[in-house]
Amino acid sequence: MLPTRLLVLGIDGASPELLRGWADAGHLPNLAGLFRRGRSGNTRGVEGFFIGSTWPCIYTGSSPARHGFHYLIQLSPGTYDFYRREDCGLFAGKAFWSALSDAGRRVAVLDAPLSPIDPTLNGMQVLEWGGHDAVYGFCARPEPLAEAIQARYGDHPVGTRCDGRRSGAEDYASFVDRLLHGVETKSRMTREFLREGGWDLFMQVFSEAHCAGHQCWHLHDSSHPSHDPEIAAALGNPMQRVYEAIDKAIGEILAEAGECNVCVFSSHGMSHWYGAQFLLPEILFRLGVAQRPPPAPRSASSVAVDGATWAWHQLPASVRGRLGGVRSRYGPRKAESNKGLPSLGVDTARSQCFHHRHGLAIGGIRLNLAGREPQGIVQPGAAADAFCEALTEDLMAIIDERSDRSLIRRVVRVAELYEGPYLDELPDLLVEYDDTVPTLSTRVGDGEGATVRVRSPKIGVLEGANTYGRTGEHRSQGLLVAAGPQVEAGVFSRQVSVLDLAPTWSRLLGVELEGTDGRAIEDLAPS
Ligand SMILES: [Zn+2]
Ligand SMILES: [Zn+2]
Repeated sequence: MLPTRLLVLGIDGASPELLRGWADAGHLPNLAGLFRRGRSGNTRGVEGFFIGSTWPCIYTGSSPARHGFHYLIQLSPGTYDFYRREDCGLFAGKAFWSALSDAGRRVAVLDAPLSPIDPTLNGMQVLEWGGHDAVYGFCARPEPLAEAIQARYGDHPVGTRCDGRRSGAEDYASFVDRLLHGVETKSRMTREFLREGGWDLFMQVFSEAHCAGHQCWHLHDSSHPSHDPEIAAALGNPMQRVYEAIDKAIGEILAEAGECNVCVFSSHGMSHWYGAQFLLPEILFRLGVAQRPPPAPRSASSVAVDGATWAWHQLPASVRGRLGGVRSRYGPRKAESNKGLPSLGVDTARSQCFHHRHGLAIGGIRLNLAGREPQGIVQPGAAADAFCEALTEDLMAIIDERSDRSLIRRVVRVAELYEGPYLDELPDLLVEYDDTVPTLSTRVGDGEGATVRVRSPKIGVLEGANTYGRTGEHRSQGLLVAAGPQVEAGVFSRQVSVLDLAPTWSRLLGVELEGTDGRAIEDLAPS
C-alpha cells in the first residue's frame, strides 16, 4: 500500500482545555502520545466569526470578508431580503483540498463541515454522513460512493441533527450511545478508505465532540446550574466518553496510516452557553435605533420561523431536502425561494440599523446605510462613525442583573478587523456577550432560571426567557497538534490562527495557496 502523505483528523468543536486535561490525566492516550512526540499549540479563532463560519475560514485560509460566508442565512446585497448562502455555492474562493486536487494531488475529504461537494476533485469526498452541520444532506463523489457507504456502514446513528429535548438519563444515554457508535463506525470507514492507499491528503472530521458539547455541557460541568447529578452518575461524563472514543479512533487510524505527517486539530472550543441574543431586537427598538415594522398581515410560515430562537439548524427537513444535492461553486446569487426564510422585522424606512442574523453567542447589527441599503438613512463616513460610537455606548451600558456586569463584553466594528471583497455583506457591528454566567434554557431540566433580566437608563428593564435548548456554546480557541518524521517535538514558535491551517497543509504537499489571510506555520512547513 502506498503511504498517505498527510493525514488530517479534525475533532470538531472540542474544548482545547478538556483535550489537554484529559490527555494529561491519561484518558486520551493517543492524543497524549501526539503531544509528546509532536508540536502543538492552541489556535486562535477568527475574531467575531468563530462560530458559524469557522469551517469555511479553515478550509479557505481566509476571513469571511474574503470568502463571503458568515451565516447560513445572509442578506442579499442591495436588498432587505434574506437568502440561503448555500444557494450561491456557500463560499467564494477555493477550499485547500480543491487547490491540491487542481495541482494533481490525490485527496480524500470526509465529513468536513459546511463544504459543498467539489465534483472536479481528484479523489473522493464524503459530505454530511455524520456531522453536526446539515446543509446538503448526505452525498459523496465519485458516484456511486454514497450508495456504497450507505450499504456498508448504514446511516450515522445521530445523523446531522443533534438538537432535541431530552428529559432523563435514558434519553441522554441513548444519545451518547449513538454518538459513540458513530465514532466507531467512522473509525472503521476511515481505515477502510485509507487502506486504498496513495492519498496525498486524507482528511476526516469527528463532529461527535461538537454535538456532545452543545447538548451535554451541563452534564459534564458539575458547577453548571442545570447539572443533574443523578443523570451524570447514571451516565458517566458524556463529553469525556465521547472524547475517549475519538481518541481511540485516532489511535486506530494512526496505526493503519503508519508513518506519515499527521495533524489533529480542534476547530473551535466549547464551554457553557451564554448571552441573551434573544433580547437584541427588542433592545434596538427600545434604544430607538430600529423601528417596529408597520402592522401588516404576515404569513403563518414567516411568523413561525421569525422567533428569536430561530436557527438554521432548525430548517424543516423538507426544505433542506429540496435544497439538497450538489450546488455549483459559483451558482446564482438569487435564492430559489423565500419559503421558510425569516424577515427583517423592522420598518426599513425609519430604522438606522437592524439586527443581522449571525448566530447566538455573537449578535450582528447592520447599519441602514445610505447608498448601500435601498432605504438607507445613516450617511456613511463621520455620521456612521458617530452612530456606531453612540450605539456602542448604549449597548455597553446595559447591565445583566444575574451578574451585575455589562450584558455585552464588547461591540466590534467589522470593518476595523477585516478587509476583502465581501466586507460589505457582513454585519457592520458584532455584539459579543459576556460569558461570565451560563444562560439556562426553558428546554433543559425543569426549565427554571432561563429568564434573563437586563436594564439600563435608556431601555429600562427588559426580560426574556431563553428557549434554545443547548447548554454548550463555542469559544474561539481551538487546538493543533502535528507529528511526523520531520516534525520536532515542542510548541509552536508563534500564535497559530485557524486561518494558517490550509496554507500549512497545502505547503506540506508542495502547493502554495494564493490570496489567503492566513500563512503557513514555518515550524511545520518551512518555506
Ligand atoms: Zn456548534
Ligand atoms: Zn450536533
